[in-house]
This record gives sequence, structure tokens and C-alpha cells, in this order.
Amino acid sequence: MEIAKNNFELNDLLQNINGNLGFVPTMGSLHEGHISLIESSKKLFDNTVVSIFVNPTQFGPGEDFEKYPRNENNDIAVLKRHKVDLLYLPSASDVYPNDYAPISFTSPLTNKLEGALRPGHFDGVIQVVYRLLSLVNPDGIFLGKKDAQQLKILSLMIDQLTLPVKVHACEIIRENNGLALSSRNAYLSKNDKVSASTIYKGLLSAKAEFRSGSLDTEVVTAAFIDSIDPSIIKNIDYVSIVDQATFTPTNGSINSDALMLVAVRFGSTRLIDNIELTI
Ligand code: AMP
Repeated sequence: MEIAKNNFELNDLLQNINGNLGFVPTMGSLHEGHISLIESSKKLFDNTVVSIFVNPTQFGPGEDFEKYPRNENNDIAVLKRHKVDLLYLPSASDVYPNDYAPISFTSPLTNKLEGALRPGHFDGVIQVVYRLLSLVNPDGIFLGKKDAQQLKILSLMIDQLTLPVKVHACEIIRENNGLALSSRNAYLSKNDKVSASTIYKGLLSAKAEFRSGSLDTEVVTAAFIDSIDPSIIKNIDYVSIVDQATFTPTNGSINSDALMLVAVRFGSTRLIDNIELTI
């Protein structure tokens, strides 16, 4: 595996690559969720490029930028084991040089749900992914459905700016108990992780309610809330059911393919998850 630690090395190494390119942007501290994106890319593309960059612009004041788990040596070993072709490990000045003009793209979606609770978060995500795409210039980008709103916003950006890259959306990878894998799970103790698996059980209850014929948004939402033990999860930031294609909240009856999105706080850790409600 080649490693590019700056843009000069990246350009050099990209010039020597033959064939098409799949790209997996990450913030590192890699887990099986990331690996599934990498393996999907390897199946479809001649070469797979992974980036690791903890992007400061997507963290708000008081968020966990400083303490975000960083595991570079272990990540490099994992990526070598998975025979990734090229790892791009930029510094902030490679991604955001002084003379860099930010891309002007936004969507009303950036201020909803996660965006309402984390102002500026999606603007940072848009900036970093746009910039990484222009540096790496891949044919395909692999993104996880775990971050469903991010996936939607980035797909809109790629579509509306007609960027020449195809989005590949990858399924959510979970622990055996259902907890969605996340680098931030490192903040949880073993017991916390067992307790946090109740989020997925709640999503499954909502899905079962929907599948049994309840199409009412409130009833399906209640199925999630009722299955959550308030002594375990004290704060639900949001539970929302949105139309899968437009991300507009379903009002009243759910009559198209939908997505239930949830964010809960577990101690000082925020966890997000979602489940598809398909008719
Ligand atoms: P991150 O390193 O958290 O920024 O994530 C990098 C990519 O991995 C994003 O496209 C995420 O949606 C994806 N990802 C993170 N966790 C999972 C998971 N449990 N299953 C599938 N994809 C994931």
C-alpha cells in the first residue's frame, strides 16, 4: 500500500495508477463499517483509495474534535491487511490551503435533523468531501447509510454540481447485538454498548409496527419511543420519519418508502441510527 502524506505525494502516486478508482473518505479509527465500504470498492474498481482526515470544519464549538479517537498506526495496519492501494493522509493545510475558496453549495437539508442540532456540521462535510473529490478525482465514492442525512446531502451535491463520480451507498454494519458500528462507540464502556443496543431494538419495533400495517407516523414513532427504556436513554434528540427520496418528514400516513432517523444521547455520547421503512 502506498501512503501519500501531502498533495504532492498524492499527485505523484495517482499519476502512476492504472485503471479506475474507488474512493472511501473516512475520519479513521477504522472499524468493520469502514471495511465494508473498502471491500465494496475493491469489488467494483481496479484501485481503492482511502483517506483519513479528522475534518475540523465539521465539528462545532464544544464538540469532540480534540478527543475524537485517532488510531493511525492501527489504521495503516488494517488498510494494508485489506490490500488498499493508496492511503491519503493529508494535513489540514493540504485540505484547506490559505488561498482555497470554499465551494458554494448548500441545501435546505443541511439545517434539518442533525443539522439543526449541529449547526454548520453539514457545511463542513460538504467542504471536505468536495475538496477530497477534487484532489483524488475518483470514479466512485463509497458512503455509509449509517449517516443517512450526510449520504443524502452529498448525493445532492454531486448531482447538482454534476461532479463526475458515482455514489455507492453501503449498508449499515452492526455489532451482533444490533448497535451500529461507529468510531465514537470507543467512548462507550462494554456495558454501555449493551445498553445502547436498545436503539436498534427500538428501530426494529417501529419497523415491525409499520410492517404489521400501521402507516400512521405517530403510531410508528411511538413504537420506537415506547421500546426505549428511559432509565437507559435519558435524551432522545429526535425521532423522525422522512420520505426516502426527498427527506421531507412524513405527515400523517406513511405512503412512500421512508426512513426512520434517530439521534439519542447516551451519557455525553451522541449516537445516530436509522432504519428503512419500505412498503
Ligand atoms: P467516518 O469515519 O465516521 O466519517 O465514516 C466514514 C464513512 O464510513 C462514512 O461514509 C460513514 O457513513 C461510513 N460508516 C461509518 N459507520 C458505518 C457503519 N456502521 N456501517 C456502514 N458504514 C459506516
